[in-house]
Amino acid sequence: MKAKEEKRLIEDLHKGQRRALARAITILESDAKSDREQAARILAALESMTSSQKIGLRLGITGPPGVGKSTWIEAFGTRVLSKGLRLCVLPVDPTSPVSGGSLLGDRTRMENLSRSEDCFIRPSPSGRKAGGVSEGTRDVLRLCELLDFDILLVETVGVGQNELDVCSMVDLTILLFPPFGGDELQGLKKGILEIADIYFVNKFDVAADAAQSMKQDLLAAFSVFPSFLERGRPEIYLGSALSGDGVSEVLDTVLEQTVQAKSIGTFQQRRRDQELLSFREGLKTRILRDYFAKNSVQQALKKIEKELQSGRLGVGEALKRMLKS
Ligand code: GDP
Repeated sequence: MKAKEEKRLIEDLHKGQRRALARAITILESDAKSDREQAARILAALESMTSSQKIGLRLGITGPPGVGKSTWIEAFGTRVLSKGLRLCVLPVDPTSPVSGGSLLGDRTRMENLSRSEDCFIRPSPSGRKAGGVSEGTRDVLRLCELLDFDILLVETVGVGQNELDVCSMVDLTILLFPPFGGDELQGLKKGILEIADIYFVNKFDVAADAAQSMKQDLLAAFSVFPSFLERGRPEIYLGSALSGDGVSEVLDTVLEQTVQAKSIGTFQQRRRDQELLSFREGLKTRILRDYFAKNSVQQALKKIEKELQSGRLGVGEALKRMLKS
């Protein structure tokens, strides 16, 4: 993109044009070196154009496929908008086969939100790479904050590493549960159970008893995690994304916690810790990428792996030789 075009894009972003936002997000999410450089320039320009320190509330929402995330976001988002707040919804890792399906659902289940001027839903995910939450998502969150979105909702399917990655870039994480027995809990990573801040057992409208017993199972599971005792009682809600029961309460809690956290700086501290981790991860990724991109490394690797496979070389010796080369 030429300098003039870039300047125009920044101006359009500043004016709040949605097409410019969609275009900028594509650049921010790209891994290409030139795009990363441009992304940094765009963010820096907007930082300098906005007078006050703008901070939005970053919320992560996760849960297994089919639990009702899209439906829940529609219900929650509608309540956010009715408070006069602006909302941005960013689904993560949509190219994976699992979430690909759920995203098709998103568009039809977020009808109200997609019609609103005050809500921006990241449009079609085609071509985005699967696996992991990229450094780009963090930049997208920052961009949306700078453009005056009050709440940034990052949606991810709770099936693997992704939801943990998302937790590492949001202020609060909401975990949605289906109203089934505790066996389902086994399938969830212990990590996510510990990290989430708010728990919502969904579909209470059709499975009230099961939802109640899920809540008990959750409480029992929590009691074995020492980190919970330190953080105090977790918030567990029973409700329904479809009817909206319980959703307003979550919004009230979230807003309350935000006021408290802002006043004592908890979120700021969390963000600084997250940024440190992200820096370290980014550094590792780049060093590895540069290392493996070298021709000499590729050649040595080929030779040493061949010897390793033929049995002429042991792993220890192979590592030694590789590092020496
Ligand atoms: P996602 O895959 O987690 O995004 O789940 P969806 O939001 O696409 O919902 C999956 C299915 O569950 C849809 O048929 C929804 O209508 C339904 N659903 C979601 N929330 C509720 C709820 O609270 N009660 C009931 N009865 N159905 C729900």
